[in-house]
Amino acid sequence: MFLTITTTGTPERPATDLGFLLHKHPGKAQAFSTSHGTAHVLYPEATAERCTAALLLEVDPVALVRRGKGKGRGGAPDSALAQYVNDRPYAASSLMSVALSTVFKSALRGVCNALPERAEAPLPLRIEVPALPARGGADLVHKLFGPLGWASVSAEPVALDEEFPEWGESCYVRLVLEGELRLADALRQLYVLLPVLDDAKHYWVAPDEVDKLLRAGDGWLADHPEQKLITSRYLSRRWGLTRQAMERLELVRLAEADDIAVEAIDNAVDETTDTEDRPVPLAVQRRDAILAALTAAGASRVLDLGCGQGQLVQELLKDVRFTEIVGVDVSMRALTIAARRLRLERMGERQAGRITLMQGSLAYTDKRLKGYDAAVLSEVIEHLDLPRLPALEYAVFGAARPRTVIVTTPNVEYNVRWESLPAGHVRHGDHRFEWTRAEFRDWAASVAERHGYGVEFVPVGPDDAEVGPPTQMAVFEMTTTAKEANAA
Ligand code: SAH
Repeated sequence: MFLTITTTGTPERPATDLGFLLHKHPGKAQAFSTSHGTAHVLYPEATAERCTAALLLEVDPVALVRRGKGKGRGGAPDSALAQYVNDRPYAASSLMSVALSTVFKSALRGVCNALPERAEAPLPLRIEVPALPARGGADLVHKLFGPLGWASVSAEPVALDEEFPEWGESCYVRLVLEGELRLADALRQLYVLLPVLDDAKHYWVAPDEVDKLLRAGDGWLADHPEQKLITSRYLSRRWGLTRQAMERLELVRLAEADDIAVEAIDNAVDETTDTEDRPVPLAVQRRDAILAALTAAGASRVLDLGCGQGQLVQELLKDVRFTEIVGVDVSMRALTIAARRLRLERMGERQAGRITLMQGSLAYTDKRLKGYDAAVLSEVIEHLDLPRLPALEYAVFGAARPRTVIVTTPNVEYNVRWESLPAGHVRHGDHRFEWTRAEFRDWAASVAERHGYGVEFVPVGPDDAEVGPPTQMAVFEMTTTAKEANAA
């Protein structure tokens, strides 16, 4: 199994920087043991003009069989011989993908402390995989890599045996990708698409594969025209997982459009709340109101659901009363920005131990969210389509059941006071709805009743005599325990 990555350079930007980006020195050959054999990294060429890194995976077919998944294509999978004589040792497949993620872990994440700006920038790349098993053939290879920003994608079918062309073609292609891409993006594409093309995962697909897929697919999978095929093959056609991944990808798409929009609106809001000498932006007033409510509730272990870019998490961190802070969001990009804002990587162990950021969708119940003192949903519910709201309601109030739940959402009545907002418009593009005070109260009261909570309402921002405050906040306190609620 073999894969090469080549880049070109100039004296100012030498091609050998590839060594830094891959975290593997061009001057030495290195070997890493993976669960299925040994992965070698070596550089057949390493000059300032041109540098090639090769990843060679030496698969131990016997170990593969012992692990019980040695099925190769092109033979009866269960015949005794096929166990030992199979294509796994030389074809780039899911094993190669695992090797990529083991050997180039930091590169896949786009991390490079030595040359951070090189890691961020597109690089002239040529990637070659001489024997890529491609179920679906060259056609599918083009469909998969075509939309991903490569200047050229070539997939030449490999003859079964070059001496006997009449035997026809094998199911392998020689893949060559050329173009300017960020190295991390290119690696993440390969990590997902090699096993997708091979379509024979060597290991059991566990539910956390969905997380891995979404992480590796960040930035390209949500908009890929072949998303369904990719998702279903990557997850070995486990339909439940595939559907879950597709739904999360849809939310990622929405949330990503949203990241940009949220910034813009926050800025606009900051301007329009300009009342007195030193205006306090509405976003800050909202966080203050939430902090006050959390403190009043005596909460110390807190969930920030739909935490976005982590502004509230950052505030909570400043107060030692909050011993455990968990930020959850569906958008990987938002979480990445949050981690950067919080400087998680550079934080001391104790501080870092107080924080967890995790990806998750609030439209699904999630065991990880059980047992907290309080949960905050700040400007989140209006991002869900109304028909999905009951799912969120159940996930939070029915399943996670924190003692206190704080929900904020825009008060649509106040929109007439935003000078920059055209009449009849919501505050920004991704708001699926905005409620009047009466609508919010109705919803909150019925949620409270269904799930055994009491609820109080708090205005946030200037409370206008006619139209009320710009933000409305509901504070729910549990009155019955889950058992009682179930019994009722
Ligand atoms: N709470 C932050 C961000 C609000 S923007 C604040 O008050 O500033 C809404 C956030 O909800 C976005 O970050 C979006 O990615 C997230 N979101 C939307 N739908 C979600 C869902 N179903 N599950 C989890 N997060 C979701």
